[in-house]
Amino acid sequence: MARAKPHSSFLKRLSRHDVAVDLGTANTLIFTADEGIVLNQPSVVCFERSTKPGEATVAAVGREARALLGRTPTNLETIRPLSHGVIADFPAAEHMMRRFVAMARTQPRFGRRASFTVCVPALANHVERRAIRETALAAGAARVSLIDESFASAVGAGLPVSSATGSMVVDIGGGTTEVGVIALGGVTCSGSVRVGGDEFDRAIVNHVRALYGVVLGDQTAEHVKKTIGSALHGEPVEIMRATGRSVEDGLPRTIELSSEDIADALAAPLRQVIDVVRHVFETAPPELVTDIANTGIVLTGGGALLGRLDQCLAAELGVAVRVADEPLTCAVRGAGAAAAYRDAHAFE
Ligand code: ADP
Ligand code: MG
Repeated sequence: MARAKPHSSFLKRLSRHDVAVDLGTANTLIFTADEGIVLNQPSVVCFERSTKPGEATVAAVGREARALLGRTPTNLETIRPLSHGVIADFPAAEHMMRRFVAMARTQPRFGRRASFTVCVPALANHVERRAIRETALAAGAARVSLIDESFASAVGAGLPVSSATGSMVVDIGGGTTEVGVIALGGVTCSGSVRVGGDEFDRAIVNHVRALYGVVLGDQTAEHVKKTIGSALHGEPVEIMRATGRSVEDGLPRTIELSSEDIADALAAPLRQVIDVVRHVFETAPPELVTDIANTGIVLTGGGALLGRLDQCLAAELGVAVRVADEPLTCAVRGAGAAAAYRDAHAFE
């Protein structure tokens, strides 16, 4: 748990050709003030295994590369360069970002000399921050500024970030859940746990294997989560069919899964999400806790779309909870809006 200083670089000047980047564990988004979201792709890159050592050829990135995850032929290697919100494979991240920026550059107003505002988790250390900076520079940024991801998400969710009244954002991404308390233009306190959508998928795979003796692929588990996933038991119960491999004979088997099964599977990882929010409440200044009790918690990130998650957290924490509009794009839109805000102030 860390207490960060108010976000001073928030008021720095930026030019109007700036782009905002959300380099997430699951998805990368690029935003420009003029064009809005110019890129929204899974954070996946696929390499052709090179014959010469030290040389890598990118075979595919984004959606194309994601389609290959779990079904890659031996001459290809599919990589997710980020893990738990930070860069785990630096060269792969660099190749991926270069391709993404090139794809985004097809937009007419994507400036050659663009400054990048890149979201970074509050608890990322200086090595991880430098890796993000260098990746952006390698991808063609003229300058790079980092913005607290919770802060950007709060701006994107339309929260009154400059006000003295505290707000809380819970961002559930692919690899992490980040909790931030925002007031007076900065993150006052934050918490993070290495549990997110990926862990939910794994929990579904494990539960279904234990209950039905069928092993689902990660992408099948994710599809089930998105289609009938629920954080709580309750009516109406939704049902869908899913196919995996039987543990017994190794052959394909189709089973029926219900939203109740998924609620059971997700109970343990959701407990960790609830615990980190609780912990942030315990460490936050009492005045801000009172503010949040009045204004409620806002959920962002793709995990916020899990069925009945708002109800589950509200019941556990005794605080009103709502899902932000377009939770998957809050961070990048917020980073872009924060840049525009700085621009306006530069003329004062
Ligand atoms: P990151 O910031 O780490 O890249 P995102 O905010 O893009 O992550 O969220 C990605 C996660 O959200 C994935 O684990 C994905 O499975 C999950 N997700 C997306 N849509 C839904 C949905 N409708 N229900 C539950 N989870 C979802
Ligand atoms: Mg994110």
